[in-house]
Amino acid sequence: MLRSHTCGELRLADAGKEVNLCGWVQTSRDFGGMTFIDLRDRYGITQLAFNMATNATLCEQARTLGREFVVRVKGAVRERENKNPKIPTGDVEIIVTDLTVLNTAKTPPFTIEDETDGGDDLRMKYRYLDLRRNPVRDSLILRHEVAQATRQYLSNQQFIEVETPVLIKSTPEGARDFLVPSRMNPGQFYALPQSPQTFKQLLMVAGFDRYFQIVKCFRDEDLRADRQPEFTQIDCEMSFVERADILNMFEGLVRHLFQTVKGVDIGTLPHMSYADAMKYYGNDKPDTRFEMRFVELNDVVKNKGFKVFDDAELVVSICAKGAASFTRKQLDELTEFVKRPQIGASGLVYVRYNEDGTLKSSVDKFYNEEELKKWAVACDAQPGDLILVLAGNANKTRKAMSELRLEMGSQLGLRDKNKFSCLWVIDFPLLEFNEDANRWFAMHHPFTAPWPEDIAKLDNPDAYGDIRANAYDMVINGVEVGGGSIRIFDKDLQAKMFGVLGFSPEEAQEQFGFLMNAFEFGAPPHGGIAFGFDRLCSLFGGADSIRDFIAFPKNNSGRDVMIDTPSVIDELQLKELSIKTL
Ligand code: ASP
Repeated sequence: MLRSHTCGELRLADAGKEVNLCGWVQTSRDFGGMTFIDLRDRYGITQLAFNMATNATLCEQARTLGREFVVRVKGAVRERENKNPKIPTGDVEIIVTDLTVLNTAKTPPFTIEDETDGGDDLRMKYRYLDLRRNPVRDSLILRHEVAQATRQYLSNQQFIEVETPVLIKSTPEGARDFLVPSRMNPGQFYALPQSPQTFKQLLMVAGFDRYFQIVKCFRDEDLRADRQPEFTQIDCEMSFVERADILNMFEGLVRHLFQTVKGVDIGTLPHMSYADAMKYYGNDKPDTRFEMRFVELNDVVKNKGFKVFDDAELVVSICAKGAASFTRKQLDELTEFVKRPQIGASGLVYVRYNEDGTLKSSVDKFYNEEELKKWAVACDAQPGDLILVLAGNANKTRKAMSELRLEMGSQLGLRDKNKFSCLWVIDFPLLEFNEDANRWFAMHHPFTAPWPEDIAKLDNPDAYGDIRANAYDMVINGVEVGGGSIRIFDKDLQAKMFGVLGFSPEEAQEQFGFLMNAFEFGAPPHGGIAFGFDRLCSLFGGADSIRDFIAFPKNNSGRDVMIDTPSVIDELQLKELSIKTL
C-alpha cells in the first residue's frame, strides 16, 4: 500500500515512527521558516511540517501545492508545539522528508469545508467534491451503519435477502411507472418497480416464509420538495402471521436500529387508530413529540350570533402552552400563515388567557369572558396559554389546523430533532374515493386485506368508505417511515377487490393474473411492511432533507446535473427501440 497509516490515525504514542501518508491538501500555511499543510483523507486530518532551515528544496516544493492536490509523504511523527485539541490527531505532526505529488487538482469551485460556500446547484454538479466534505460523507457512513444493522437484525430473525427484478410489468394502480422500451419486443415496455410488492408475495407462496431486501424503487411522480424519483426501501414480508406479529417484529427492528446507531431507547410504541389521528391531530402521521391535541368546540361556541362559527361544520382549537404572551404582530403573522392558499383557512380566532386570569379574544363582540372561560375549560387551558381556533368544512379545517399545530410546535421549540417519538397508526380505511377519477382507490394498495368483519361490506358500494384495512404505518416525529398490511391471499377475495377498484375481470386477469393464479397453489396467510430507507437515515442524522443521505441524488426537477440526465438519445437508438420521434 502507498500508505502506512491513515490521516486520522496517528497519536502522541506514535511519536518517533517513520510513516507514509496519502491524502488531499486541505490547507497550506506558510510562515517563512516553516510551512504547514493539513493533509486530509476519509479518516481525518494530519498536519505536515516542512522546515526551510533543514530542507529548503522540499519546503519550496510544498509551497507549490494547491488545494486538493493528491500527495504522498514520508516522514517521522513528532509531538506538536502548538497542539490542536479540536482534532484527534492534534497532538502530532509529520516532519516530512519525502513528498510525491500523485495528482494535481484544479481549484475546486467551492470550499471543501463543513460549512461550504457552494450553493446547491454547484454542489450537485460536482457531487464528488461535495462528498469529500465531512457532513456529507458522515451521512453516507450513517446510511451504511443503518443498512448493516438492518441486515444483522433481520438475518438473525431468519429473514432471507432475495433480489427481485428491476425490469417488470407496468400496472395501472399506484403512482406513474418509469418505462423501459424493449428492443427485442418492438412496441412493448418494461416498467421499473414502484416496490417489489407482488414479488415478495410470490416469495411467500414459494414458502420463503421471511423475506427482506434493501431495494431501489422508482416512482414517476411530480416531485415535491425532498422527493426522489428513485429511492430505497427496506422491504419485508412474513408468512403465518397476524398484525400483532408484524408490529412486534418491526418495532423490534426499529428499536434495534435506534439502539445500535443512535444509542437511544425508543420504548414501546403506542398504537393510534387512523380515526383518532385525524380527530386529534388532523393528520395520519401525527408529530407526537408534543401534545397540543385538537379540541372540538362545536358544542361550546355555537348559537352566540357569530356566523362564522354557526355556519361551520367544525370548530376546532388547540391550546398553545405559555403562548399568551404572543404579540399582536405574531398573531397577525399566524393569521397570514393559515390564510396562505396552501393552508386555505379563511381566518384565525384566538383567545389569550392572560397570566392575571383575564381572557381576551379576537371575537370579544360575540363572546364575553364567561363564555371564553368555557372554551378554556374545554381546552384545559391555564393562565398564560393561547387558544387558537379555526372553523369551516371539517376535513379542510382539520388539515389547516394540523399545519398550524406544527407551526406552533416549531415556534415554541417543541420539535427537537434529537427527541424521537414513534408510534403505529392502525386501522386505515381500505378505500378512498377520488372525485376526479370518480371511483374508489385502495388507500394502501389493492393487495391489502380488509378487516374480516368488514369483508361483507365489499358487496355494498354505500359502505365502501367504512371498510377498515388491516394496514399500519410507523410514524416517527410526524414522518411516515414505514407502512404495510396483512395481505389478501384468497383468489376470490383478490378478484372481488379488483372489481371494487373498477377493473373488469379480464383487465384484472391481464394485469394481475400471475398473482391470483399463484394464490390457487397454496398461498399462506402473509403480511409485510416497507420502510423508507433514505427517510429513516435522514431522521437518524437529524436532517430535514434526504438528499445528503443519497450518494448521487437527483435535483428537484428529477435531473442528475452531474452526469446531465435525462438526456436526448440519438435517432439510431430510437429506431432500434422502435420509438418514433415526435
Ligand atoms: N409495498 C408497499 C409500499 O411500497 C409496502 C407494503 O405494503 O409492504 O408502500
